Amino acid sequence: MPSLYLGARRIDYAVVRGTSRRYTYIRFRPDMTLEVILPRGRVVNVEKALRDRSVWLQAEYEKFSKIRDVLADDSVMYDGKLLKVVFSQSPGDSLVSDLTKGEVVVHTSERKRFRELVRRWFLKESSAYAVRKVAEMAPRLGVRPSKVDVREMGKWGYCTRSGRLSFSWQLIALPEKLREYVVLHELTHLREFNHSSAFKRKLAAFCPDFREREKELNFVTPYNRLAPPG
Ligand SMILES: [Zn+2]
Repeated sequence: MPSLYLGARRIDYAVVRGTSRRYTYIRFRPDMTLEVILPRGRVVNVEKALRDRSVWLQAEYEKFSKIRDVLADDSVMYDGKLLKVVFSQSPGDSLVSDLTKGEVVVHTSERKRFRELVRRWFLKESSAYAVRKVAEMAPRLGVRPSKVDVREMGKWGYCTRSGRLSFSWQLIALPEKLREYVVLHELTHLREFNHSSAFKRKLAAFCPDFREREKELNFVTPYNRLAPPG
């Protein structure tokens, strides 16, 4: 894979040719490599194109490097902020968050219990948030969900045709405006059970910057208990 340097950082990139795009399009992939998409039938000097965009690339990289894990070994994301995890070796299991200090103190005799303690904490908070937000927004959208719950799931939100809304137990990790977007997205599905332009119009009526929020959501990596520990 060819690569370029952004400051001291080496970034690999892949070139995709012959697309129907009219202009050269460059983006970061989730694996931190760049993708350079070239228009069909045009000769483009890729190295020069990247050099010419170095300032923009640097800015994109900064944005991109904000990609954050909900749960890491020594941090946990809550309300969009990263809290430092401080372990306190003590019997019994409890977790005390101190948002002003930006930390979470985990009292446990077994360090590996940490994730379970966070899960319990988040489950409670995410549930309270989802119930409150749905109650607040549903009448405004003119919809009546039949049930709201929070659970282990691969997506941030999900809904059924019968009006049952489900949200990830990690919802509370997100900053308010992204959490709100997730709730609005599912509520809007009760009006339009698809992602059609009608759906997007309805969503935009309550959340004009929904595309921006959707993008930002991609920068957050939820904890997947099925993923190998590491
Ligand atoms: Zn959807």
